[in-house]
Amino acid sequence: MHVVIVGAGQAGAALAAKLRSLGATGPITMIGDEPSPPYQRPPLSKAYLMGQIGPERLWLRAPEFWADQGITLHLGDPVQSIDTTAKTVTLGGKTIAYDHLALTTGSTARRLPAAIGGDLPGVYTVRTLADVDAMRPEFIAGRRVVIVGGGYIGLEAAAVAAKLGLQVTVLELAPRILQRVAAPETSDHFRRLHSDHGVTILESTGLDRLLGDSHVTGARLSDGREIAADFVIAGVGITPNTALAQAAGIAIDNGIATDATGATSAPQVWSAGDCASFPWQGGRLRLESVGHAIDQAEVVAENILGAGKVYTAAPWFWSDQYDCKLQIAGLNTGYDRIITRPGQGGSVSFWYYQGDRLLALDAMNDARAYMVGKRLIDMGKSPDPAAVANPETDLKALLK
Ligand code: FAD
Repeated sequence: MHVVIVGAGQAGAALAAKLRSLGATGPITMIGDEPSPPYQRPPLSKAYLMGQIGPERLWLRAPEFWADQGITLHLGDPVQSIDTTAKTVTLGGKTIAYDHLALTTGSTARRLPAAIGGDLPGVYTVRTLADVDAMRPEFIAGRRVVIVGGGYIGLEAAAVAAKLGLQVTVLELAPRILQRVAAPETSDHFRRLHSDHGVTILESTGLDRLLGDSHVTGARLSDGREIAADFVIAGVGITPNTALAQAAGIAIDNGIATDATGATSAPQVWSAGDCASFPWQGGRLRLESVGHAIDQAEVVAENILGAGKVYTAAPWFWSDQYDCKLQIAGLNTGYDRIITRPGQGGSVSFWYYQGDRLLALDAMNDARAYMVGKRLIDMGKSPDPAAVANPETDLKALLK
């Protein structure tokens, strides 16, 4: 049985490795359009951008792992089409037959529209190793960077730039940074943190257009102001890579649509990670995180081998900015109140409730609150909010 995996990233790598660890003996071919072996992206906007680690620390597995495991890597070669009837994929003039096909094609960073100067030299996105290698030489103390978008990627890049002595301005169109993903309490925490490090955060402020002819020189804001910039980073979200699947007639619904087992609408074609949407609480959900990419890919590996297992997402995420480690468990969609739990030494956690039900938490430098909160959420348990808010409550006692 030949398993072909399209996309050699976090999900693809996890899927291939899991197949082998489950005892699959047939050929496995993983095809990636990037030239690098499978690597992790989180450090791209953290330690790697900071210059603290080299590329070898990004590799998900030692380079020899793939050959040792009998997993064939085709890198730097995008799959151009899929024929779900003939069960083949085509790339670089070659056609490869599959018995099972896994689409782990990830997502692409949105660019700022060319019509407003988004294609000027000096405007960067942060998705791939190549993106960051191109942008990294711009990070020189004293230079001015405008970051468009106050989400996690934009704020992490802002933190690195500020630490390296750049002058940083973050533009956020919404009334507050992190509005799409977090409560006002978390936004306030990070706004303070960035202000303390000299970053200018402009909320309710859009980008009218980027300025410059042969290179970006600044930005005109939605309120008419113009600010100078030596370079610009767009942190304005991603779009799932669905075009290949769509062209093959596979159902798309905010991502490559799968059932609860990871199967797509085409026979023996599976999907996992950033590019896939799956059934969730009566609707569909698409997650963009390492934990999800690995967990879903591993379930797909089991199901390729016939397990018939249902994927149950247990979302978690993290972000590092300055000396603050944010850890998030659960999904906060639908929350109606926030319980604040002060931790020790300035740490704090915000617990999202819907009525009496605990949905999620954001823990800042509070690994203990995160660990307990995550276990409670995974177990479907909701502790009394008053007990959570009381710093005297022994968190572990909440698990009983
Ligand atoms: P990817 O890892 O993107 O892999 C998909 C691969 O498929 C890519 O290499 C893509 O180029 C390739 N591909 C696409 N089309 C084709 C084709 N036709 N042929 C061949 N190959 C193709 N998550 C966290 O949980 N915590 C974090 O702190 C965090 N920080 C992040 C920081 C940055 C800068 C970025 C960019 C992401 C971060 N994430 C973080 C998100 C996380 O990295 C992604 O959710 C994860 O990589 C998704 O894995 P994936 O396998 O679905 O996609």
